[in-house]
Amino acid sequence: MKAHDALYIDGEWRPAATTGTIPVINPADEQVIAHVPAGTAEDVDAAVRAARAALPGWAATPPADRAARIAALRDVLAARADEIAATVTAELGAPPKLAAAVHTGLPIAVAGSYAELAATHPFEEKVGNSTVLSEPVGVVAAITPWNYPLHQIVAKVAPALAAGCTTVLKPAEDTPLTAQLFAEAVHEAGLPAGVFNLVTGLGTVAGQALAEHPDVDLISFTGSTAVGRRIGALAGGAVKRVALELGGKSANVILPSADLARAVATGIANVMSNAGQTCSAWTRMLVPAERYEEAVALAAAAAAKYVPGERLGPLVNAAQRERVRGYIEKGVAEGARLVTGGPRAPLATGYYVSPTVFADVTPEMTIAQEEIFGPVVSILRYEDVEHALALANGTVYGLAGAVWGDEEEAVAFARRMETGQVDINGGRFNPLAPFGGYKQSGVGRELGAHGLAEYLQTKSLQF
Ligand code: NAD
Repeated sequence: MKAHDALYIDGEWRPAATTGTIPVINPADEQVIAHVPAGTAEDVDAAVRAARAALPGWAATPPADRAARIAALRDVLAARADEIAATVTAELGAPPKLAAAVHTGLPIAVAGSYAELAATHPFEEKVGNSTVLSEPVGVVAAITPWNYPLHQIVAKVAPALAAGCTTVLKPAEDTPLTAQLFAEAVHEAGLPAGVFNLVTGLGTVAGQALAEHPDVDLISFTGSTAVGRRIGALAGGAVKRVALELGGKSANVILPSADLARAVATGIANVMSNAGQTCSAWTRMLVPAERYEEAVALAAAAAAKYVPGERLGPLVNAAQRERVRGYIEKGVAEGARLVTGGPRAPLATGYYVSPTVFADVTPEMTIAQEEIFGPVVSILRYEDVEHALALANGTVYGLAGAVWGDEEEAVAFARRMETGQVDINGGRFNPLAPFGGYKQSGVGRELGAHGLAEYLQTKSLQF
């Protein structure tokens, strides 16, 4: 795989301050495919200074002109879609179809949505005798995970650019090649130097330096709750804005009136997609007691269709595979019934985990409470709707969820769920709808106009 041995700072590819590198590994065959620079605090400082210097010019650029640049960026991404999909497959292990549709198509659509929003958003409004101005927050630090490499970048950088902010991106160690492609696209799209900067590196070095940098105005982080908590504390200490997209343990609530076969099949597909590495995955399936065994059998049959190495990709790295296997072993040890799958490696090479379904999961079990981030579904039994609601709301998380059944009942149930998104009877993902968490799933919202608002601050002029 082609890789830059440099960082993208102030409109050019520059060598890092030190010579350390990070290997990039293809998780499907465990081969090293590239090396990228391990940026340090010195590189982060150079990138933040470039972003700061570019801020006045970009903030003063009329929204219509910012929109045109973002549209150009969208067009470059679309023109290079095949290359992007191949890169995501190489460094994340996503099966080619998923890489093309979700990992490439979705972020292109999101970039397009921000070209439109930049052009149409009312950055000025009248409130009584005041004019309220929406101004860019300033220099944005974007720290992203590996699970949706391009989407996570675009969901931060595109609204930041639309708002008039300048950015420094520190992408995940496992997927820096997609980030380098994005930087190339930014360059090709003609964004002014310094408006977007890329520093690859370790989270504990480059990520930490970026989060701590005094000249960053807003930190937007997606990743683990553990790191998110630390970044939130840092931001609080420095009194700067922060947006956190963290983990989830979302409930797929199947009401008695539901089309069971469809609800179970869609629920399993939702978890198995991207090998379970989706923060909003519906990893807890809640089924009425009277239909429980029927649902378990349907789930096992649906999961069996996800053949490792074909429809089911590997996990991103060896550590994640070990982590997921550990959770599966814990599920067995705590008394859940392993219906299909298990901790044994399904293939000799690659970080694969078998599609795994647990039945007889009770709410206090670890696999009912903690985010596993792998192809593992826990099926819980409920007695009545109040019980289902208690189970659905019974974790520290609240990122997403689903409800199946009579629409009126399903909506009434969804209104009582402590979660940021609920899909009713298989409602489609909407890239304009606000995405983000209740409770420990995070702070703030991404996507659409709500996502743009994260990067704006308001000023009121009175007349
Ligand atoms: P992570 O939180 O360690 O990493 C996310 C990003 O933060 C990466 O870019 C990383 O380099 C950076 N980072 C790490 N430590 C940092 C620090 N001290 N300061 C600043 N930045 C730092 O997540 P991970 O190791 O990639 O994944 C671990 C778990 O996180 C997963 O198993 C999953 O539960 C969760 N996760 C959630 C999401 C999500 O979308 N909500 C995405 C990926 C992972």
